[in-house]
Amino acid sequence: MQRTHDYWMDKAIAEARKAEVIAEVPIGCVIVQNNRIIARAHNLREAKQDPAAHAELLAIRKAARKLGNWRLLETTLYVTLEPCLMCMGAILLARIPTVVFGCHDPKAGAAGSLYDLSNDPRLNHRFELVSGIRRQECSSMLSEFFAALRLKRRSDQ
Ligand SMILES: [Zn+2]
Repeated sequence: MQRTHDYWMDKAIAEARKAEVIAEVPIGCVIVQNNRIIARAHNLREAKQDPAAHAELLAIRKAARKLGNWRLLETTLYVTLEPCLMCMGAILLARIPTVVFGCHDPKAGAAGSLYDLSNDPRLNHRFELVSGIRRQECSSMLSEFFAALRLKRRSDQ
């Protein structure tokens, strides 16, 4: 049975929740091929103290290791937040054909908000982009996280 975008985004949201539990910004990602998840990851920037430890980049690396191939052909990447410049770069390099994200990131998004690297004729790879899947849930997860963080900072003072 062909699963819906909604179904897979739910798995990406579950990854984001794992990040939230360890006080990471709640962003999650899964990569799907032939109707199954081949990689899943969540943001680990704080845990790893690595500016590049974004959910998408971690998942792309896992998927490439699993497939034994840097080309992630016939895959779909699901991520709760619009990818940044770095992650869009990695998506292009991995030749991922379809990217689905939850909510837009007006401050750093490179899939329509600040830039749109999914459809730039100067680049040698273009991909299908779907946005707004479970938008409300993806977005409120982030706003609630940052609201709680502000509250905590205030009470720490
Ligand atoms: Zn990123």
